[in-house]
Amino acid sequence: MKTSSRFGLYRDLLQSSKYFKLVCGAGNEDADEVEYLAYVYTMAGCAGFDVSASPTIVKAAKKGINAALVKSKEFKIEIPFIPFVTVSVGMPGDHHVRKAFITNDCVSCNLCIPTCPTKAIPENLIIIKDLCIGCGNCEAVCPPAANAITYSHNAKELLNILPECVEAGAESIELHAGVPDNDSTMREWKVVSESVPNGMISMCLDRKHLSNDMLIDRIESAFDIADDRLIIQADGIPMSGGTDDFNTTLQAVSIADFINKNLKKQEIKFKKLPILISGGTNSFTGQLARQCEVEFNGITIGTHARKVISPYKTNLLEMTNENLLKAISMAKKLISMNLLG
Ligand code: SF4
Ligand code: SF4
Repeated sequence: MKTSSRFGLYRDLLQSSKYFKLVCGAGNEDADEVEYLAYVYTMAGCAGFDVSASPTIVKAAKKGINAALVKSKEFKIEIPFIPFVTVSVGMPGDHHVRKAFITNDCVSCNLCIPTCPTKAIPENLIIIKDLCIGCGNCEAVCPPAANAITYSHNAKELLNILPECVEAGAESIELHAGVPDNDSTMREWKVVSESVPNGMISMCLDRKHLSNDMLIDRIESAFDIADDRLIIQADGIPMSGGTDDFNTTLQAVSIADFINKNLKKQEIKFKKLPILISGGTNSFTGQLARQCEVEFNGITIGTHARKVISPYKTNLLEMTNENLLKAISMAKKLISMNLLG
């Protein structure tokens, strides 16, 4: 493949296990929030951002990054490189790209409202689509007698939307492929690969819908198309953070361990396959992986990373330096706890 200094840098970061990615949310289409997240986390030393496959959202992330590059000079914060922007797309059925909605069977018990990590369920019980990240927390608490949460797939025509996202500044694409159907997944994967022929591409996999054998087969098929551009995002489920403890992040570390033992250490061609740990990740993820001697190339965090800086969130123009520095400090702490400085 043709290499550029940007993609050489991307691979170097992965091979030195220093890649921290902030997941803004595959279904998060709140441009103000994405801009805020990119602004704070760029100054905290984040290497990449994962955003919804929408040119508007890619531009929001780039706007936040560019604002951080300017503001960092005032704070004398060194930003060694411009973070990478990845867009996320998903197969129908993958939980990252679905949107919840409430059916007429709802009995208005309001149990779902406080469980939503993005405050997407208002008191009128009409879910705010742009805020929903498809995590399923609302479904988990909805009484079985009502069973009033259902989902729609955030369908986007990859062939049309991906070039627009690349044009807007995305350098990498991720396919959420936690579905059993291999043939259709590989068709979409080919489109992803051809959309950024000189860029890294990532496949996000979990063990909810794939057996261990299917997981390994899927990675081998993905490698046949992507070769050394392939990144595997080992997704632990639950995707929505839960509590900040070891148990929540156990599954994410476990799937990385499985791929290491059954693929990376078995076949020479997979030796350098980058593994990013994701899904249920929090401030304990890196520590747990190190304690269990599970090698990884980076960590991606969504809900928990957004939560630690949410108390300071405001319109960027109105944000005080004091609050901004507090938010940067919280974000930095999370990154260094996971990647050890
Ligand atoms: S709890 Fe999760 S799935 Fe339900 S509305 Fe909120 S973000 Fe969407
Ligand atoms: S938990 Fe279910 S029944 Fe209760 S308010 Fe939410 S959608 Fe309606």
